[in-house]
Amino acid sequence: MANSIKFIGTAGARFVVAKQLRSSGSLWLSFQGVNLYMDPGPGALVRCLASKPKLDPTKLDGILLSHKHLDHSGDTNAMIEAMTEGGYRRRGILFAPEDAMEEDPVVFRYVRSYLERVEVLQENENYSIENLKFSTAKRHVHSVETYGFNFHLPGLTISYITDTKFFPGLPSQYPGELLILNVVLLTEPQHPIDHLSLEDVKEILKECRAKTVVLTHFGMRILQAKPWEVAERLSQETGLKVIAARDGMTLEVDGLVRK
Ligand SMILES: [Zn+2]
Repeated sequence: MANSIKFIGTAGARFVVAKQLRSSGSLWLSFQGVNLYMDPGPGALVRCLASKPKLDPTKLDGILLSHKHLDHSGDTNAMIEAMTEGGYRRRGILFAPEDAMEEDPVVFRYVRSYLERVEVLQENENYSIENLKFSTAKRHVHSVETYGFNFHLPGLTISYITDTKFFPGLPSQYPGELLILNVVLLTEPQHPIDHLSLEDVKEILKECRAKTVVLTHFGMRILQAKPWEVAERLSQETGLKVIAARDGMTLEVDGLVRK
């Protein structure tokens, strides 16, 4: 079974999302025969159905929320309804932090009954959905409860660092040979917003074990700096393969990096 990541959208932060300078759909993961939608931001459902070939939400096995901010969760209810055929076919697992479910919830209570089950995410915990195993890392420094992930495929770990402010020990939490990073800011290392800047990313790449790195979830200033040029410069500086994600890009992960 081919393993792939489809970048439905690569927008990060409020302005890029509000103006849809990039799509805010986040990721469709196909690992080990399991289809998992990660962080369905605004437009996720429409972008799936408009994709060529079309991505069918009824083929999803689950939905994974790293945190409840709008750009990560806006289409969660729409995707649950689509995955469950309007609630007529009870199926699928939702993985989400507790505060996405309880305090100012982003998942409507009535759609929760459409799901096979809900699993509440906690830090440093292991999860599985059919054949696919993944784990959360330490809780991120972000204004709401937020977790990044390590997906454990045979012979390959894929790490995903979602929104966070840089903190000591962050790089060692994500040992994947393939590393995906949300990089919202350009050069503001001590920026008051709880996001990674390009300077933070350079620090992470010094310590990480990744051979291939994908940048996504771009804020306005990164977009203005042309992410593909930013990625090219990072490749030259670090010797790693660094890719800037594009809306609609499919990354075939098999053979990309192997232990
Ligand atoms: Zn956020």
